[in-house]
Parts: sequence; structure tokens; C-alpha cells
Amino acid sequence: MSVAEASRSAVAAVFAVMAGWEVVAPRRSQAIGRWLRWPNNLGILIVDTIILRLLFPTAILGLALGGEERGWGLLNSLPLPRWIAVIVAVIALDLAIYFQHVLFHAVPALWRLHRMHHADLEFDVTTGVRFHPVEIVLSMMIKLGVVLALGAAALAVLIFEVLLNATSMFNHGNVRLAERTDRFLRKIVVTPEMHRVHHSIEPAETNSNFGFNLPWWGRLFGTYRVQPAAGHAGMTIGIDRFRHVEDLRLDRMMTQPLVGSAGRYPINPRNR
Ligand SMILES: [Zn+2]
Ligand SMILES: [Zn+2]
Repeated sequence: MSVAEASRSAVAAVFAVMAGWEVVAPRRSQAIGRWLRWPNNLGILIVDTIILRLLFPTAILGLALGGEERGWGLLNSLPLPRWIAVIVAVIALDLAIYFQHVLFHAVPALWRLHRMHHADLEFDVTTGVRFHPVEIVLSMMIKLGVVLALGAAALAVLIFEVLLNATSMFNHGNVRLAERTDRFLRKIVVTPEMHRVHHSIEPAETNSNFGFNLPWWGRLFGTYRVQPAAGHAGMTIGIDRFRHVEDLRLDRMMTQPLVGSAGRYPINPRNR
């Protein structure tokens, strides 16, 4: 089995575990059934995967390997033990993704792309793979730039990509977690209880908890919210538009960035 196949299997296993957990111990009862949302959310994952393969066939790992061979980027030119360089690269990549997420909430044109992720009317494991293809392409270009400048080792990139895919499914899970377990996990990873706040319809809650892997950045930069004001069972998921079940269809999701104004959510108020 190749490394790429092994990492795909790991991500698929996390998906299966989360899907099973959601059936056994759901956190919120869902008004909209899986039969409507799942084919469309998983459909966009297929579209995203095909586009990434077509546009970036050599993938991010190839770039990291090339950088290692030629000594490109910060970490490849520092005399660091390899394991320290790998840990630093994984943490730095996570910080970059945190800032990228804030950016997609701050710039109205980018929010138009990212709001499709927020327009899901329920919050579960498939929300974690629901991103507009243009956002996925822009995100890959940003990641390629960061990997190159940072001089991230291929091993660090592999660990980070598997972690990002796995934690995105974990932290979008509609799963029950004991309060004590959640409080402990929040110290080391973004939990579903943390990320659910980010999917609240309330703009101040939408613009909080931007992390995907490591839970520290929000506390460090003042964007951390512990719980939604209405509670996890009572909060409304989604944004104030695209609230019709028809908007959950794949074709509608694709065109959402072009519909209407950017709305009241962008952090940058001058360009709304
Ligand atoms: Zn967001
Ligand atoms: Zn999310």
C-alpha cells in the first residue's frame, strides 16, 4: 500500500467512526434527514477531489520533497534536528490555516466562497467536507506557498494533511461527548462543541473559534468562545440566507457565491 493510499484509508476510517458515533450518540436531533444532505455534501467532496487531482497532479507532497532535496525554505536551511523541524512545520501549517480561515471571513469576496460551508442547515461529519471548489483551490495555493516558504518536510505535510482531514470530520461531528471529556480534549484539539459555535447563525459566534486542529490560536488571538449563547441544542445552525432545503442541493451550492450581496457576516465592515 502506498503512503497516499494509507492516508486515504485513515481518513475513510475516521469518517466511518464518526458516522457510526452520530447514529449511536447524536448531540442534536436533526430536522433535515441524511438522505437529503449527505449525497449533496459527499457530491461536492467528489467534485473537489477531481478538481484538485486535475489542477495539482503532483500534489503538495511532491513540492515538499523537491524543497527538501534543494534546501528551499526556512526550515530546510536551519540546522535543526529533523523531528523538531517536522513538529514546527505541522504547528506552523496549522497556524497558517487558522489565519487563512480568518481571512475567508474578513474579505467579503472570500466570504462569498466560504459561506457555502456555513450555509449547511445541519452540522455533522459531512459538513466537514462541504467546501466550495474555488475555496479548495485557493486554499491549496496558499498551502503550497506556505510549504515552500516554510521549507516543510514531506513527512510534516503528510501528517498535517491527514490530521486536517481527520480533525475536520471529528470537529464537525454531531456527536455526544461527556462535558469532562470535552473540557480535557479542548486543551489539545478542536472539539465538535468548540467548532459548532462557529456554525451558529449569530454573526459574533460565526466569527469565533476559527481553528481546525490545534485549539490554542483562538485563545491567543482573542477569537475563542466557550459555548453558544442559546446552548448546543437550542442554537440555530447556518447563516441568515440559503435557508430553504432546496439550497442544500449540489447545483445550488455551486452558485451560492454569486447570489446576492456578501451580507452582514464579513469581519471587514467597510466592504459589505
Ligand atoms: Zn468559517
Ligand atoms: Zn466548519
